[in-house]
Amino acid sequence: MKLKIFLTNTLSGKKEEFIPIDKSDIKMYVCGPTVYDRPHIGNARSSVIFDLLFRLLRNAYSKVTYVRNITDVDDKIIDAANKNNENIESLTTRITQYFHEDLGHLNCLIPNQEPKATENIPEMISMITRLIELGHAYVSDGHVYFDIDSYSDYGRLSKRKIDDQDIGARIEISELKKNPMDFVLWKPKKQHEKMFFSSPWGDGRPGWHIECSVMSKKYLGNSFDIHGGGADLIFPHHENEIAQSICESKNNKFAKYWVHNGFLTVEGDKMSKSLGNFITVKELLDRGIGGMALRYFYLTSHYRRPLDFNQKALEDSQKSITKFQKSIQKYSEKFDANSKKIPDEFLSYIADDLNTPLALSFIHKLSSKAQEGDENYAIDMLNCCDFLGLNLEEKSGEIQLTPEIIKLAEERKKFKADKKWEEADKIRMQIEEQGYKIIDTKDGYEII
Ligand code: AMP
Ligand code: ZN
Repeated sequence: MKLKIFLTNTLSGKKEEFIPIDKSDIKMYVCGPTVYDRPHIGNARSSVIFDLLFRLLRNAYSKVTYVRNITDVDDKIIDAANKNNENIESLTTRITQYFHEDLGHLNCLIPNQEPKATENIPEMISMITRLIELGHAYVSDGHVYFDIDSYSDYGRLSKRKIDDQDIGARIEISELKKNPMDFVLWKPKKQHEKMFFSSPWGDGRPGWHIECSVMSKKYLGNSFDIHGGGADLIFPHHENEIAQSICESKNNKFAKYWVHNGFLTVEGDKMSKSLGNFITVKELLDRGIGGMALRYFYLTSHYRRPLDFNQKALEDSQKSITKFQKSIQKYSEKFDANSKKIPDEFLSYIADDLNTPLALSFIHKLSSKAQEGDENYAIDMLNCCDFLGLNLEEKSGEIQLTPEIIKLAEERKKFKADKKWEEADKIRMQIEEQGYKIIDTKDGYEII
C-alpha cells in the first residue's frame, strides 16, 4: 500500500493530501540559517522538523531532493563581523561549521544541496534584471525595489491585504519606494562596508528574499513540491519569494505546499537572538543534555504548535531516551540490521501531518512491551526510533561541566572548609540556577 502523506499547507490553511508534481523526484526547499551566530535551540527546532519530513518523504518515494540554503550575506553578518573584529568570510565559515556540528549532534541528515548566497550573486543579478525588464521592479538611487502593485496576488500566503499591512513594523520605510510595501531586491553598499558585489545598479548586495527565489530555482526549477521554514518567515520573506519567483518565471505555481513550523518559546515568547532569551544547542550539550534528548523534546509537540522550553521537559525527554535504551539492551545482539520494517500504525501517525506526539506514545507502548520480554516489540521500537532519527546508541546523560561551574564548586569547597556556610550556600544556589545540582560526598562533591 502506498503511504498517503498529509501536510498542512499554509497556502490553503488546510491539511491536504500530498500529491507530488513528479513522484520520481520529490523536491523540497527549506530556508536555512543566516550564519552570524551559533544556532539556538529555536533555530534547531526548524532543522529537526524538516529533517523528519525529509526522512518521511525518503521512506515513501525513491528520490527526494532536499535543498537548504546558507545566508552568508546580511546586515547581521556585517554587524557581527565588525563587533568581533573578524573577517566576514572567516565568521561565516566558522558559524556554518558550528551549524553543521550542532545539527550533527541532533542527528539531522545533510541536505542534497546547501548553496551559499554569495556563490549565486550572478544568478541574483540576472533575476533582478529580468524583473525590471518585465515591469515588476524599478531602480531608485542605487536600490532596486520590487513593485508589489505589479503583482495582484501579493498577500495570498500570509492572508494579508496590502492596505492592512502594519507598515513600519517589519517594513523599511523609505522615500525611494513607490509603495511603502515594496521590498528591496538590491541595496547599495554603505560607506566603509567591506562586503559588496558589482552590479548594473552599482556596488552593493542582494536583498534577503531574492536569494531563496534564485537558489530554489537553480536547484529545483520554477515549480517544486514543498517549501518550508519557521512561521516567522511567512511574512514578509515567503510572501516576497512568491512574488519574485512567480513574476520572473511567469508561472503561477512556484511551491505547491508551504509548510511552517511553530516557535520554540520561553515563557510564551519566541526564542530569539534579538530578545536575548536564547540558549544555543552547544550550551545545552555542554550542560550534559544529549542531542537525542533535545531531538525527542522537539517531537513531543506537534510541529505547528508552539513548544515551550523548560528544564523539566528536557529531563523527561532524557529519561524517555534512557527508557528506550534500556528496553533494547538485552536484545542488542539479536537485531538484524536489515530488518527495517516500520509498523503501519506508527507510519500512519507520522504521515498524518507529522503527528509526532502520537508516534512517541506508540513507541512508549512498544518499549513497555519490550521490557516485559518480547523481542519483536524491541525490534519494532528500534526501527520506529530510527525512523524519527532518534539514535539510541548515543551515550547521553554524562554531564559535561563548564569551567565556570567547576570554579564555583571549588570556591564552595573552600568556604565549606573554612566553615563559611552562608557563602557556601549562596554558591550552591548559583550552581542550581545554571541547571546543575551539587551533592556533597566523602571526597568532596559531585555535580549532576
Ligand atoms: P534565522 O537563522 O534566524 O534566519 O533562522 C533559521 C530558521 O530558524 C528559520 O526557519 C526560522 O524561522 C527558524 N526559527 C528562528 N527562531 C525560531 C524559534 N524560536 N522557534 C522555531 N523556529 C525558529
Ligand atoms: Zn528563504
